[in-house]
Amino acid sequence: MILYLFDIDGTLLHAKASGRTAFDAILAEHHAMANASAGVSYGGKTDGAILDEIFRARLGRSPTPAEVETFLAAYIPRLEALLAEHGVEVLEGVVETLEFLRRQQDVVLGVATGNIRLGAQAKLASAQLEPWFAFGGYGCDSTVRAELVARAIERGRELLPATEVVVVGDTIHDIAAARACGATVVAVATGSDSAEALRDADVVLLSMTELPAWHEQRYGSAQAR
Ligand SMILES: [Mg+2]
Repeated sequence: MILYLFDIDGTLLHAKASGRTAFDAILAEHHAMANASAGVSYGGKTDGAILDEIFRARLGRSPTPAEVETFLAAYIPRLEALLAEHGVEVLEGVVETLEFLRRQQDVVLGVATGNIRLGAQAKLASAQLEPWFAFGGYGCDSTVRAELVARAIERGRELLPATEVVVVGDTIHDIAAARACGATVVAVATGSDSAEALRDADVVLLSMTELPAWHEQRYGSAQAR
């Protein structure tokens, strides 16, 4: 039984900076921050960690729990509006890879993402990828990526007794979190980190188109049904 956990941004899709744009708009409105995200890298970080990083950089303190709650309540409708306006780009080979994995015996698919659950669902729905993923670990489970990956693994194991976990992501943070959970890591160089930066993964793919061949080489091909 193999549990595949996919990161979203930079791995499955590009959301055309909708998340960053939503963060900046809300922080300008609520906290009078201009260009709040300037100089802040979002790749591989959880929504909560990004918000904390911006607050500490701009205001010299972390947000209060009430400020986090207010921010997230404003974030989802703003994100949904931006996604509706700009759409998302589903990355090359993603749909074909998901179709390939679905045909394999003993594979189950989930997400492990720094997006809070509603944000993840909005991005996946915009990409028409939502039906592929029955469960996941999210930025609302923990602001620490390794903890949300662990939560995704727990939820996956409630569905089936996975013996092998494969995390697929586009940043060094995905690699570190997967390692902390004892998972195999497939890095795809389609996001913010270069193939060179991702070299600590078990394999670095230039795009998702290469994943089926890697899977067959490592696990063999067991076509279901
Ligand atoms: Mg990513």
